[in-house]
Amino acid sequence: MTAVAAPAPTRLWTPARVLVTRSAAERPYGQHVLERLQSAGVQDVELLRGDRLPNLRGDGDRAAFMRAKNTLALVVGAPSRRRLQPIPPSADWRFDLAEGCPAHCQYCYLAGSLSGPPITRVFADLDEVLDGLDPYVGRGAITSGTAERGGEGTTFEASCYTDPLALEHLTGGLARAITHVGTHDWSGPVQLRATTKFDDVAGLLELPHAGRTRLRFSVNAASVARRFEAATSPVDGRLAALSAVARAGYPVGVVIAPIMPGEQWREEYGDLLDRIAAAVPTGADLTVECITHRFTPGSKATLTEWYPRSRLEMDEEKRTTKRGRFGAVKHVYPKDTMGELRGWFTDALSARLPDARLLYWT
Ligand code: SF4
Repeated sequence: MTAVAAPAPTRLWTPARVLVTRSAAERPYGQHVLERLQSAGVQDVELLRGDRLPNLRGDGDRAAFMRAKNTLALVVGAPSRRRLQPIPPSADWRFDLAEGCPAHCQYCYLAGSLSGPPITRVFADLDEVLDGLDPYVGRGAITSGTAERGGEGTTFEASCYTDPLALEHLTGGLARAITHVGTHDWSGPVQLRATTKFDDVAGLLELPHAGRTRLRFSVNAASVARRFEAATSPVDGRLAALSAVARAGYPVGVVIAPIMPGEQWREEYGDLLDRIAAAVPTGADLTVECITHRFTPGSKATLTEWYPRSRLEMDEEKRTTKRGRFGAVKHVYPKDTMGELRGWFTDALSARLPDARLLYWT
């Protein structure tokens, strides 16, 4: 295969402050991240004497929020993290390269899932986590053994609580995971899955991925991306990155999320699907995941605090209540709106991306 040219990354985060715990600095991958931080010119790197992070809560004000968003901590995950959890509807299991993200999406789903100051924690025990995946192969209920998605093998989602490409220039963690999954001798078929709103794919194009990693790009209608996705790469950059990794032989995907029925939504999502169709090379293995916008009481409270001037609609009166796992309340669009959106997307996807496989709609 001839080398694929990498599109220039449109946005590379430089954390203002890095905290490194003692155990993290001792791990080989932790040392690799420290070297990359140095090469990236990150100045303020603090090696801690122990494993506790200092209190980063500050006064809980806007300045403390911004400081936390600009802080990266290199830590070792708690041992309980080695017991993997299922992650429906994406994958059989999830493991975490990191937790947190430097971008500022005003609907960010992390607001409802992570607690505490929004720093980005990178896990330095990645090698141990990767070595611990073998016993999960052949187990799982989301893709493994299912009629619809069994062909994907045992799936591992690596971007549940972070955006791996937002950090890749600083960590190289996604490349390490892709290489492990691509070269390890597994007892059955496996697939690594990651999703991103960034476009720095240069370090991924030449990896021995063996077609076992599906890289998905999270995309949205122009007005949603413009109004609500600050500090991410522009959608066209993400699509150029998708095109490059597909040409480098990766299975690819688009995650259209969160879908919002604003004014002109048919035209805007139609235009998005046309741009995706233009970016995907002929013969690429492309999947689509569709997620409508939803919020919980907890995510609304956190997002309102983080982005008080946001014009994101989070009006319970305009929504229907759904109960998730363990009875948690979610506010989703009413049934009629959902039906209209789903009908339109089903038709538009088969017309504009006829070779793509829709994995789920939610
Ligand atoms: S890119 Fe993803 S994880 Fe990062 S702020 Fe946006 S929605 Fe949240």
